[in-house]
Amino acid sequence: MNHVRQLIGGTWTEGGSGRTLTVFDPSTGAPVSTVPVSSDADVTAAVRTARHTAPGWAATSPGDRAAALRAAAADVERATGELAALMHAEMGKPAGEAADSIAAGVGTLRQYAELGPVHRGRALAGDDSAIDLMAYGPRGVVAVITPWNDPVAVACGLLGAALVTGNTVVHKPSERTPATGHRLAELLAPHFPDGVLSLVNGDGPVGAALAASEVDVVAHVGSTATGRSIAAACAETGAKALLENGGSDPLIVDAGVDPAWAAAQAATGAFANSGQICVAVERIYVHRDVADAFLTALADEATAWTARIGPLVDTRLRDGVHAQVSTAIEAGARPLAGGTIPDGPGAFYPATVLAGCTDEMSVMRDETFGPVAPVMVVASFEEALKRAADSPYGLAATVLTPSMGHAQRAWRELPAGTVKVNAVFGGAPGGAAHPRRGSGQGFGYGPELLDEMTATKAVHIEAPPSGW
Ligand code: NAD
Repeated sequence: MNHVRQLIGGTWTEGGSGRTLTVFDPSTGAPVSTVPVSSDADVTAAVRTARHTAPGWAATSPGDRAAALRAAAADVERATGELAALMHAEMGKPAGEAADSIAAGVGTLRQYAELGPVHRGRALAGDDSAIDLMAYGPRGVVAVITPWNDPVAVACGLLGAALVTGNTVVHKPSERTPATGHRLAELLAPHFPDGVLSLVNGDGPVGAALAASEVDVVAHVGSTATGRSIAAACAETGAKALLENGGSDPLIVDAGVDPAWAAAQAATGAFANSGQICVAVERIYVHRDVADAFLTALADEATAWTARIGPLVDTRLRDGVHAQVSTAIEAGARPLAGGTIPDGPGAFYPATVLAGCTDEMSVMRDETFGPVAPVMVVASFEEALKRAADSPYGLAATVLTPSMGHAQRAWRELPAGTVKVNAVFGGAPGGAAHPRRGSGQGFGYGPELLDEMTATKAVHIEAPPSGW
């Protein structure tokens, strides 16, 4: 059993709230981790230590900070097997996929180690006798609040960018993957002076206490509801809210595509990581010309995916996913695959295909975060585009089409941070996007995250008057 502790000012201790959380293996239902939850006083102490440590860390050279990050990345890489086993035990991701996502996290740490020292300000064209600059500096103390669905990679991005730019950090990992977060902190923290990276543990109330504390930035990756409450807390304190939140990404399947290929794309988008990806395909609009063949192929894909996907993170999420599916079926959706809770231990849920879905159904409108592909047949590309755009979210969208004109319209017109054409996943390194609507605000990744983690100062310097 993993026992999770907090780190404040370089010292590992038990969280002091008196509450304990237990995490259960979603494959077997067996307990895997216990978490003594941090108290409000622990959160305050962590933030105070981070504040106290901030000026010293800000004064170190970017090169030294990058060297520390690079060394930390090497330690995380060496611990890949161990971290992957923790992830698998706590949130069910198959170990091989978990290792891939840890490799992505290590890559991100290394990327920020390279980019940090070359992140720079500007010299301005002022008077010849003066010096005018826009200089970047760290914002101060950054609260990093992360989810469970990709716990190492997401944390590495925010922690790496915050630390290399000279901020101190208090991290609160998800209560569903606390031992994974704990081990990551054990690997990272020794590379930085005491108090530069602290760790507090627990669930929503601990995150809320951290978000309401005297920090300069709250960087949150998680659900839209949480993001909104963090934005409200930041409005009270004046901290900057950086939010990467939920999505309900549409997939448009246009006339003229190969239905079998489109079904394979749709299945990858909807079922990978058991649908627990922020940019998973959450709703599908298929042109009537290809709908029958597409639906038949998608149902076959679902059967194949069910045999290889891991469980959902826990039965709480599974209950939510199944409630959306059941409500849709009651309202007239037709299950072509899956849709029932299997017998046996754990939180498994089959890859599910629902035909005949409508805009009003929660499974089309809200985020599902499970292996569910709800499908609506449309009469035209125009109709698909209109329905895809009509969403309270704006994270990402995909269009499968042989038409260059439709591809152009899709990326220009869809109100989402990322638009992909003819591939549900993919994109060049260095890409970064602004999520729209309920999906968040700010750059949560990519080189631009360094801008978010720093504040710009305009500087004007004149020579002292002659004769002094
Ligand atoms: P969540 O918001 O419930 O939890 C995320 C973190 O926020 C956890 O550490 C949690 O303890 C904390 N938290 C919960 N309530 C809080 C509160 N009131 N104040 C402060 N902190 C609080 O989200 P989750 O269920 O862990 O993660 C799944 C969600 O994350 C999905 O909606 C998914 O789309 C989203 N996500 C988004 C991205 C992205 O890049 N946009 C990436 C991964 C996951």
